[in-house]
Amino acid sequence: MNIPDRVRERAERLADALPAYVYDLAALDRHAAAVRAALRDVELYYAVKANPDPALLRALAPYADGFEVSSGGEVAHVRSVLPRARLAFGGPGKTDAELALDVHRLHVESPGELRRLIETGAPADALLRVNLAVPVQGAALAMGGGATPFGMDPGGVRECLSLLRRQNRVRPRGLHAHLASGLRAPDLLDLAKAVLGFARDLSGEGHIPTSRDLGQDAPAVEVDLGGGMAVSYHDPSELFDWETYGRGLAELREPGELLRVEPGRALTAYCGWYLTRVIDVKRVHGEVFAVVTGGTHHLRTPAAKGHDQPLAVLPTGRPGTGATTEPVTVVGQLCTPKDVFARRIPMTVDVGDIVAFGLAGAYAWTISHHDFLMHPKPGFHYLT
Ligand SMILES: *Cc1c(COP(=O)(O)O)cnc(C)c1O
Repeated sequence: MNIPDRVRERAERLADALPAYVYDLAALDRHAAAVRAALRDVELYYAVKANPDPALLRALAPYADGFEVSSGGEVAHVRSVLPRARLAFGGPGKTDAELALDVHRLHVESPGELRRLIETGAPADALLRVNLAVPVQGAALAMGGGATPFGMDPGGVRECLSLLRRQNRVRPRGLHAHLASGLRAPDLLDLAKAVLGFARDLSGEGHIPTSRDLGQDAPAVEVDLGGGMAVSYHDPSELFDWETYGRGLAELREPGELLRVEPGRALTAYCGWYLTRVIDVKRVHGEVFAVVTGGTHHLRTPAAKGHDQPLAVLPTGRPGTGATTEPVTVVGQLCTPKDVFARRIPMTVDVGDIVAFGLAGAYAWTISHHDFLMHPKPGFHYLT
């Protein structure tokens, strides 16, 4: 893949201090500004679990209306970095202590969770997380569309609405849905249409309070449509079409309705690079392997998703001991056959060369098993 000049220059300067992560904050700023503009009146929350690095949170803050968090740990973390940020707290299995945290929106995952929330006695503004039986083919991961532990079917939502009517501390504000990830704009717009239709039915039947009940400033219907915008690891130049998505949502939205999205991967994946160095090139039973410093204990994404992580090779220019132009399988230093970044990639590589893995800004460092084998941790560097 193409590597920006500034990342290449930093990689060459860090050559003796690899492996390392490099985050291109200027690129993230440009990308977030473009996403923000494409979304027009739709609120943008960043799904923190994709990458909670404080520098990234600060870079996104000017463009984000808030942050979507999935644990008490993430609540505390975002508060420590951005004390005034609005938080929407979702995720299955919230403890009583987590339910009692004061956040802008609480995403209720089940009738049982709602009962416990009501029992805390604390006021809360809740969105009910719905899992509609809509087709989610083509998704990389399905959190909805059928039986999953995420959210509620329409029967569960109606059970919550009847619990909510019998109390007045927990205010139902609307619906939340995060049905699948890895979808393109037209497919996400189809899901948005289904979720919005369901929300309008409930509010038309008087189940979800509207501006009539909550005061003039409250939206007619509030719906958080989740994240899941596709990132192509196969072809990094194939970007999610934010323009089409923003235009589509603007067409779907009726006056007075509040829509929100909460992307993670498609916001931060592109700004992150994991840089390593080739320490051995070997041929085993006819196949060529390049062994690099570090491994999938630093960048678990290709092992977790079963893909080839896109990469660029920066040759040192010095002749090494293992130059090859055959297809190469790039592996790390772990003693497990699962420690593979990319398989049989046509490339020219030699011992000493730098390998830069792209799309390493989301679901990368924080989903990795850092302590396995006790190799040194990578450095973290930020290009501003
Ligand atoms: C993970 C998650 C997101 C972000 O998903 P991406 O695929 O990274 O955009 C948004 N909302 C919820 C509820 C999630 O669990």
